[in-house]
Amino acid sequence: MSRTFSIIKPDATRRNLTGAVNAVIEAAGLRIVAQKRVKLSTAQAEAFYGVHKERPFFGELVKQMTAEPVVVQVLEADDAVPKYRAVMGATNPEQADEGTIRKLFALSIGENSVHGSDSDENAAIEIAQFFTEEEIVG
Ligand code: GDP
Repeated sequence: MSRTFSIIKPDATRRNLTGAVNAVIEAAGLRIVAQKRVKLSTAQAEAFYGVHKERPFFGELVKQMTAEPVVVQVLEADDAVPKYRAVMGATNPEQADEGTIRKLFALSIGENSVHGSDSDENAAIEIAQFFTEEEIVG
């Protein structure tokens, strides 16, 4: 079993799609072992997406991620990171496969409904930004 970190982004929470996204996650065999709804501060969003701070869309990304509440989650499965990346679909929803979360729900490349870690190492770092080990119940 391994873990990944997920965020249901503001474009999805705004449209009341938390349950719909979770249904796709669970149908794919990922188990939601921790979950909470939070409103990210600007500092939290800037730190979380620090790797993108030189990119032209950084300001817009931080604004979008702090506009409405998000749902942060820890997901567990065999090969959780690649499994969730496959369920999410491509960053740009126009390129996402049928049945993926982004194909089903994303509005644009920026407002693309979900985040998922891109490596086991980053998953551990991201999980630790939002959850203590006691809050993760498998
Ligand atoms: P991900 O791992 O598939 O989420 O993609 P990245 O790590 O490359 O980008 C992080 C997030 O930045 C994406 O999920 C988008 O919300 C946003 N993003 C990436 N590329 C663009 C872009 O070209 N324009 C805008 N507005 N946002 C982008």
